[in-house]
Amino acid sequence: MTTAQRQRIEPQTGVAFELKRGDMLRVIDVRGEQVSDLMAFAPDGVETLSTGRCIDYNETIYLTAGHVLYSNRSSPMLTIVEDTVGRHDVLFSPCSPEMFEKLYGFDASHPSCFGNLAGALSRYGIDSDRIGTTFNIFMNAELEANGRIRVLPPLSRAGDFVLLRAEMDLIVALTACSAELSNNWSFKPIEYEIEAARAG
Ligand SMILES: [Zn+2]
Repeated sequence: MTTAQRQRIEPQTGVAFELKRGDMLRVIDVRGEQVSDLMAFAPDGVETLSTGRCIDYNETIYLTAGHVLYSNRSSPMLTIVEDTVGRHDVLFSPCSPEMFEKLYGFDASHPSCFGNLAGALSRYGIDSDRIGTTFNIFMNAELEANGRIRVLPPLSRAGDFVLLRAEMDLIVALTACSAELSNNWSFKPIEYEIEAARAG
C-alpha cells in the first residue's frame, strides 16, 4: 500500500476520481452528522452502481462492514471493509434541485448532490441521466413497519469513517450532501483518502 493523502470535499460540493482494483477508499465525516453520497461507474461509464442489486444480494437495506456494493450487471464494485457507524442509506436518490423545489419551495439555485455529482462526472463524459440511486454514506433513514420512511440526523460523530475496497477499476463520484434535513441542518465538509493497491 502507498501512503494515503487526505483530500477535502468542501460543504455542498462534490468530486470525482478513479480507483484501480484493490485500491482502498476511506470516507471520513470529519465533524460529524454529515452525509456523503457515492456514485460509481465502471470505466466504460455505462455499468453503474445498482442499489437494488445491493439490497437483493446483501438481503438488507442497512449495508455495513462485510457487505458488497454491486453493479447493474451484478458485478462486485466495492466491498465495505470497515464501518464505524453502521447506518447508511441505499433508498433515497441524491438530493436534486427538483427535490428542493418540490419538497421545500427552494429555487433551482440550491446546491444539490445530483448537481454536484453531474458536474464532477461530466469530465469523464458521463451524462447526468446515468446517475441513479446513490449509496448515501452516513445518511440515517428509519423505515417504519407501515413503509413510511423518516430522515433522521446521521449517527456519525467527528472522525467516523467507512473504508471501501474497489473490486474493479472504477470512476467514483462523492459529495458533501446539501440537504438540510439529512445533515441535521448544517453543512460540513467530507474528507477522503485513497490508498493505492500498488505504486504507479
Ligand atoms: Zn444530498
